[in-house]
Amino acid sequence: MSLNILKGIVIKSVDYKESDKIVTLLTFEKGRVTAIAKGVRKKGAKLAHASQFLYCGEFELVLSHNRLILTGASNILDLSEISNNLKRYYFAAHYIDIAKAIIMEEQVDEDVMKLLLNTLYTLSRGKLDEKLLTIFFEYRMIMLNGFAPLTEHCVICGKESSTMKLSVEHGGLVCCSGGMTIGKEAIKIIEIIVSCSDQELFSIRIDDSIIAELYFTSRKYVEGVFDRQFTFAEQGLKYE
Ligand SMILES: [Zn+2]
Repeated sequence: MSLNILKGIVIKSVDYKESDKIVTLLTFEKGRVTAIAKGVRKKGAKLAHASQFLYCGEFELVLSHNRLILTGASNILDLSEISNNLKRYYFAAHYIDIAKAIIMEEQVDEDVMKLLLNTLYTLSRGKLDEKLLTIFFEYRMIMLNGFAPLTEHCVICGKESSTMKLSVEHGGLVCCSGGMTIGKEAIKIIEIIVSCSDQELFSIRIDDSIIAELYFTSRKYVEGVFDRQFTFAEQGLKYE
């Protein structure tokens, strides 16, 4: 039996057998990990909390018969305010959905983990508008995956025009091909989001008038980059 201490967050928790749960974690050290949390559905179980969706902590896991067993946990980030608020909960699920598309087993991505946890923590405190937070998270995630939109000039012909469009297909601004309409101010904000430091990210100020276009384009971009749709619809909240 070998002991693993992993820092991360529970991204899925499903009932297993009579009183157990199978938890999926995203961790800093080993990427995505699945473990069995024994007896956690019994009344007063010590690890009941630690096997719940969005529990963020340091997990003790023992490898036994090729399966990881959760044997201990200590909380490192209090995200309880997310679960108490339905709207925040849906947004959190969306962020985790995206992080999940990136972090696989044995895939270590410290920057993605940091961004995810920082975003969830900011969400839990409720001091930033959820749409704004989503814009920051999505564009930053795109950047971390190496797909930050190229915004200097048209990526096809190299020219600059006053009416540039944003093309996911071409990876940036275009003048001579189709794309999403986007204004100069919004482009400037995207440039700041993908180039600022982690500390600066959540203090970027965005004018209300361009939030809608940034929100729309960031989702389209994320979907293009990861080649799948991220929708809130199945969780009962429209992503608009
Ligand atoms: Zn062009």
